[in-house]
Amino acid sequence: SKEIQLASRPQGWPTAENFRLTETVIPELEDGQVLVRNIVMSVDPYMRGRMNDVKSYLPPFALDAPLDGGAVGEVIASRAESHPVGTTVVHGLGWRELAVVPAATARPVDVTVAPASAYLGALGMTGLTAYAGLTSIAQFREGDTVFVSGAAGAVGSLVGQMAKLLGASRVIGSAGSPAKVARLLELGFDAAFDYHDGPVADQLAAAAPDGIDVYFDNVGGEHLEAAIGAMNHGGRIAMCGAIAQYNSTEPPAAPRNLAAVIGRELTLRGFLVGTQQHLAPEFRDHMTRWLTEGRIRFDETAVHGLENAPAAFIGLMRGENTGKMVVTL
Ligand code: NDP
Repeated sequence: SKEIQLASRPQGWPTAENFRLTETVIPELEDGQVLVRNIVMSVDPYMRGRMNDVKSYLPPFALDAPLDGGAVGEVIASRAESHPVGTTVVHGLGWRELAVVPAATARPVDVTVAPASAYLGALGMTGLTAYAGLTSIAQFREGDTVFVSGAAGAVGSLVGQMAKLLGASRVIGSAGSPAKVARLLELGFDAAFDYHDGPVADQLAAAAPDGIDVYFDNVGGEHLEAAIGAMNHGGRIAMCGAIAQYNSTEPPAAPRNLAAVIGRELTLRGFLVGTQQHLAPEFRDHMTRWLTEGRIRFDETAVHGLENAPAAFIGLMRGENTGKMVVTL
C-alpha cells in the first residue's frame, strides 16, 4: 500500500522534497481493528506546525514515517463487530491508501446525508471549529457585526454563513483574490475585500464604518492588528489560527496595538477544536439541517491522487483552495 512520509522538516515554506511516496506492507489485523481503504483525505494548515520538531499541543510528525490526519474511507476487512465490511468511517490515518485503524477511533458516517468529503469539512472538524469559535469562544450575539479573515477558506466561509444565519447585522470577510471576494458576496457576506488591495485596516474601516463586535481570526499579524483597531467596546476575538506566520522564520511584526484591549475591554481568546467536542452533537444537528435546507453552502477544492497530496498541502498554504482542500484517492 502507498503512503506519504515526511522525508525532512521544512525550513520556512515546505517543498516537494520534504515528502516521500513509499510502499509499505499492511500487517494482519488484530482484534478490534479494521482495514480502511481511504476515499478522501484532508490537508490542513495545522499540519505545518506538526512538521516542526517542537513541543506543541500535538506531537510533531516523525521523520521517515507516514504523516497522519483526517480521512474518510470504507472498511474492507474487519475484526470489530461494530464496524462491518462496507461501513464508511471518518478516522485519523490519512496520507495513505490503506489504514489499519482501531475501530474505537473510526466513526461511522452516513454518506446518504452528505458526500464523504463533507465529513472532513462542513460536517467535520472544520465545521465544528467554525461553530465553536463563533458561538462559544467569540460569544456571538444577534445583531453583532462580524469580521472573519481567511473567509473563502474552509473554516472562514462557514463562519460567515453561520453568523448571517444566527442574526448578525453585518458580516465582512477578507480573502486573497478577486474571485474569492466575489464568491463571498455570493455566499451572503455583506462586504468582502482582497487583502492584497491595500492596508487591511483601511479596507476594514471602509467595510465596517460602525466598527466590529466579533473578529474570527484565521490569519493573525496585520489582520489581527486591523481587527483590534476596528473593535467596538466589549468586542470579542476568537483566535483560531495565524496562517500568515506558519511558514515565516521571523516573529510577526503585528499586532502593535494590543494595549487597546484594555481601554475597550476586549476579549481575545484562543481555542482548539479538540477541546470543543462537547459542542459536536449540537453542531451536527444544526449543520445537518442547514445543509439539507440549502442554507449553508460549502465549497471544496479537490486534488486527485495520493501522490499529489504534498502539492495539495503546499497549495493550501498558498491559497490555491476555495473552501475545503481535500485529496481524493
Ligand atoms: P483554509 O481553507 O482557510 O486554507 C488556508 C487559507 O489561508 C488559504 O486558502 C489562503 O487563502 C489563506 N492564507 C494563506 N496565507 C495567508 C496570509 N499570509 N494571509 C492571509 N491569508 C492567508 O484553511 P482552514 O479553514 O482549514 O483553516 C483556517 C485557519 O483556521 C487556519 O489558520 C488554521 O490553522 C485554523 N484552524 C484552527 C483550528 C483550531 O482548533 N484552533 C482548527 C482548524 C483550523 P487566501 O487566498 O485568502 O490567502
